[in-house]
Amino acid sequence: MAQVKIPTIKLNNGADMPVLGYGTWLGISEKAQAAGDAKEAFSFDFDVSDAPKMVEALSYAIDIGYRHIDTAHLYRMEPEVGQIINQKIKQGVVKREELFVTTKVWHHFHREADVEVSVRGSLRRLNLDYVDLILMHWPMSISQKGVDEKIDYLETWRGFESVLKKGLVKAIGVSNFNLEQMKRLLANCKVPPASNQIEINLNLGQPELVEYCQSKGVVVVAYSPFGTMVPSRAAPNSPEPKLNNPTMVAIAKKYNKTVTQVTLRYLYQRGIVSIPKTITKSRVLENASIFDFELDQGDVATIAKFDNGYRTVRPIFWQDYLNYPFDKVPEKAEIPKSLMVWKNGINLDID
Ligand code: NDP
Repeated sequence: MAQVKIPTIKLNNGADMPVLGYGTWLGISEKAQAAGDAKEAFSFDFDVSDAPKMVEALSYAIDIGYRHIDTAHLYRMEPEVGQIINQKIKQGVVKREELFVTTKVWHHFHREADVEVSVRGSLRRLNLDYVDLILMHWPMSISQKGVDEKIDYLETWRGFESVLKKGLVKAIGVSNFNLEQMKRLLANCKVPPASNQIEINLNLGQPELVEYCQSKGVVVVAYSPFGTMVPSRAAPNSPEPKLNNPTMVAIAKKYNKTVTQVTLRYLYQRGIVSIPKTITKSRVLENASIFDFELDQGDVATIAKFDNGYRTVRPIFWQDYLNYPFDKVPEKAEIPKSLMVWKNGINLDID
């Protein structure tokens, strides 16, 4: 079986995070979205029918050398992720200490004391004693009924510092924090965040936020690293580059790589960790085969020109809530039910 060797980056707690991880968000129904069914795509229904494929792909990922797994309470995959991890440990494929597991705390656990409730729930579903990194998924606090709880993320952070102290997690971090929120958090915390997980891809480079985080020793992790480049995410009127973009195809050809590999390599050369999601085994291998070539400065400059600030993930239904991190747009929308109350696991039978 093919093997990949993925380098690591040091976190501020001294731990090593592999610079490429396996993302486990099955997301909204991609089939509905690809079919152009705007109403269905917008309903944000989770497509759990792909969960068994993800289980197989994750199992393969660990077999070939992936050691970093990104999940979240919201993704409702913690039971499956935990089953695979425990199975691989039992089979002797990997030791627990060789794995880097991240999960996240959702909006309705933002009171200081509730952070521990959320983390203990994740550990139970994952069937693990600790996770390597826990993230505040978003800076807003919203009840299961959609009420703005207006809890300061500094209060939530104190809950994060507490679960760290108790040894339930090895490192604490945030996700979807903007520049201003990062500065405020860093100025008002006892333990600085180890990481900020944000959307970064060729359309959304976020140079200012990335440079600030990196200058403070906060490792930047890129979610949705392909943006709308891949057909399943190509929203109407979304900008170039797509997979067949001539500039990207020419660069890929020069290095004998694919356009997606060039994309991940470009992020790596910016010192950014990526967590691409795929349920396709060949792509699991492809996405991690980016450590045997280097983009030259000319190609880096050409690729950088695709940055136009376009967001793939723009949850406008949260934009009136306190601490929404992105700029607002005129449209209005209701929070989809599946983002407020859900069950976990392929059988959706574990709370
Ligand atoms: P990605 O950029 O990882 O894109 C996923 C899509 O790309 C899937 O349709 C997948 O298809 C396809 N794909 C993957 N590899 C290739 C390849 N080599 N060639 C062609 N197509 C490919 O987007 P995500 O939004 O899933 O982000 C990745 C991860 O980031 C998530 O799984 C999650 O863990 C995390 N995330 C975090 C967020 C946060 O708020 N913190 C928000 C969003 C994501 P297929 O699976 O069919 O192979």
